Amino acid sequence: MVHIKRVELSHFKSFGGTTSIPFLPGFTVISGPNGSGKSNILDALLFCLGLATSKGMRAERLPDLVNHNHTNGRKTTEASVSVTFDLSDVSGEDDTNKTEPLTEWTITRRLRVTQGGNYSSTYYINNQPCTVNELHEQLNRFRIYPEGYNVVLQGDVTRIITMNSRERREIIDELAGVAEFDRKIDKTKET
Ligand code: ATP
Ligand code: MG
Repeated sequence: MVHIKRVELSHFKSFGGTTSIPFLPGFTVISGPNGSGKSNILDALLFCLGLATSKGMRAERLPDLVNHNHTNGRKTTEASVSVTFDLSDVSGEDDTNKTEPLTEWTITRRLRVTQGGNYSSTYYINNQPCTVNELHEQLNRFRIYPEGYNVVLQGDVTRIITMNSRERREIIDELAGVAEFDRKIDKTKET
């Protein structure tokens, strides 16, 4: 199974400077006092997976994700997060990489904010720029979806319990990878 090996945060939320957080295979627990930045690490993960809405990362606007101390007086500021996946368990199954099995795979999202408040995101796969769609296609191969409950946030369990059966079915479709095909069918019909 694919697992996260490392998350590296630069100027993201409460993380000034650059912080690298190792994740070991199996179970990792992050503990610390209230407000110390535990949930911000999960927000960083969602950010890097390309979650579009800042609300999902508990911020009013995307620029609010840049560390406050880093924004003071600067014309352009940046926050970035890299997530490195360990593929050593799956590289044999990956037929696109037959010649050169990858054991590590790194995705990065960089958010640039100008003084006027304009902002843009750039995405990278193994340091090569890519579009968010390309990133999501690659993530889908590993059944990783920014909106697909790979990350279960505070309140999500209660929300799932109170959903109607149709909404719950949509989650299953998303996790099973069916929703992606439905979206492609809808898009083709539109054009
Ligand atoms: P709890 O145990 O209460 O769930 P937590 O460890 O999960 O706490 P987080 O929610 O991750 O804490 O972190 C909240 C902290 O992050 C707050 O102190 C907030 O001020 C800080 N924070 C959020 N965004 C920024 C930012 N852009 N710059 C600096 N600090 C930030
Ligand atoms: Mg928290």
